[in-house]
Amino acid sequence: MSRRIRSITDVAERQLCTGCGACAFVQPDVIRMVDDLDAGRRPVVDAVDGREPSTAAALAACPGVGLRQTGLPAEHLEELGGAWGPVLEVWEGVAADDELRHAASSGGLASALALHMIERRGAHGVLHIRARPDAPLLNETVLSRTREQLLAAAGSRYAPASPCDRLDLIEEGPVPSVFIGKPCDVAAVARLREQRPALDERLGLTVAVFCAGTPTTRGTLEMLRSMGVEDPSQVESVRYRGNGWPGDAEVVVRTPEGRRTHRLTYEQSWGEVLERHRQWRCYVCVDHTGEFADIAVGDPWYRELGEGDPGRSLILVRTERGREVLHEAMAAGTVRAELVGPSTLPASQPGLLRVRGAVWGRVTTSRLVGIPAPRFEGMPTFGVWWRELTLREKLRSTLGLLRRIRRRGLRRRRKVHPWDPGSPSPDSTIPASAQRRGA
Ligand SMILES: Cc1cc2nc3c(=O)[nH]c(=O)nc-3n(C[C@H](O)[C@H](O)[C@H](O)COP(=O)(O)OP(=O)(O)OC[C@H]3O[C@@H](n4cnc5c(N)ncnc54)[C@H](O)[C@@H]3O)c2cc1C
Ligand code: SF4
Ligand code: SF4
Repeated sequence: MSRRIRSITDVAERQLCTGCGACAFVQPDVIRMVDDLDAGRRPVVDAVDGREPSTAAALAACPGVGLRQTGLPAEHLEELGGAWGPVLEVWEGVAADDELRHAASSGGLASALALHMIERRGAHGVLHIRARPDAPLLNETVLSRTREQLLAAAGSRYAPASPCDRLDLIEEGPVPSVFIGKPCDVAAVARLREQRPALDERLGLTVAVFCAGTPTTRGTLEMLRSMGVEDPSQVESVRYRGNGWPGDAEVVVRTPEGRRTHRLTYEQSWGEVLERHRQWRCYVCVDHTGEFADIAVGDPWYRELGEGDPGRSLILVRTERGREVLHEAMAAGTVRAELVGPSTLPASQPGLLRVRGAVWGRVTTSRLVGIPAPRFEGMPTFGVWWRELTLREKLRSTLGLLRRIRRRGLRRRRKVHPWDPGSPSPDSTIPASAQRRGA
């Protein structure tokens, strides 16, 4: 961890926060998560007797300051070990439940495995996120216990979410539950379970969704604007993808005449708008594929997308528990999948491989110029930087960072600004020019 990072406030204000919510779970009396329009879900530490209390316990669980991989299991796919973490098997498959598959982001594997755990293994529920019914631009953490609830929460939400903030619902449950989150969320859970035996006992399965980065809520507002929706208070629902593969972003607004639906393709919403609003911590993220999960799922992008494609999932078995559950779900008919070669992973996610390489350049340069950066142990990046990046990409990952430091204001502390969805602020603390250029 950087010597300058001594508290949860430091993590948030030095832009190392991923927004996972683990700190609010560990110290709920003094830490609460808020929505910051230009940063994401962020912790606010409340003063006690006029002073900031110690947040050392929360900091010990924080994935924002760094991650540690303690070693690969004896049996793993060696060709993937260096750049992708522990992978025991690679599969490609779909949820057998067609409605779930259609509503889901890829092939519905995350939701199908979760449902399998509830229906066949008696899991108490599934801790994950969904759109807030009262403020659909934002997300909330819920414990889903039925197929209908899982269906309602299916699909990727390219917006800030902090599923770890309600880990109490798992820890205090009568029997084990499932946790679904992004790689940084699952990394926080992995660290917490080492510290809290009660939580460890109640974690039946952890599932990570691949993640290239979380766009801020400002990104969602920009997406609305690209659709021609200027007044977010009229928005009734926001979907980012799903209902096909990858599916359109779809926003429903109330008008005096009734409801109107606005759409953008995945390329328009993610590629032209949302991607450019990713929080800074995602640019120095080394784990985009859920190295700490039992099972990780993503898109098999190596495939040509066909018209009306119902979607498929790439499935990484990362632990023995993950293997047991996936094989059981296939035997039960909840999931249909076929084993594929290890090379399917880099073929599906070449962008994520290069990003891992670029992280070496960004983190090394950050340290050289005195910018706080996360620490990664047992998660190699230099070899990927050397092998996978062109000379131009190598230079961008190092010298290009100096430009980003200025644009993002990384030398300064940035206070957390809670945002009320009822009053969207037009003011941005990150210059709009920097956001447009995807800094
Ligand atoms: C921010 C973000 C970035 C992504 N980047 C990539 C990428 O680079 N490559 C790639 O292949 N796929 C990416 N995805 C998509 C996702 O990894 C895949 O679609 C994955 O295969 C899940 O599909 P599924 O059909 O199995 O999930 P579903 O069955 O649709 O279930 C999705 C689950 O994810 C949860 N979820 C949705 N949004 C979030 C969120 N913001 N934070 C935490 N949990 C969430 C839901 O609650 C639900 O339980 C990204 C998703 C997100 C949210
Ligand atoms: S990364 Fe997670 S634990 Fe760390 S400060 Fe942010 S929300 Fe809290
Ligand atoms: S890119 Fe990494 S740090 Fe950012 S949200 Fe995804 S998993 Fe978390």
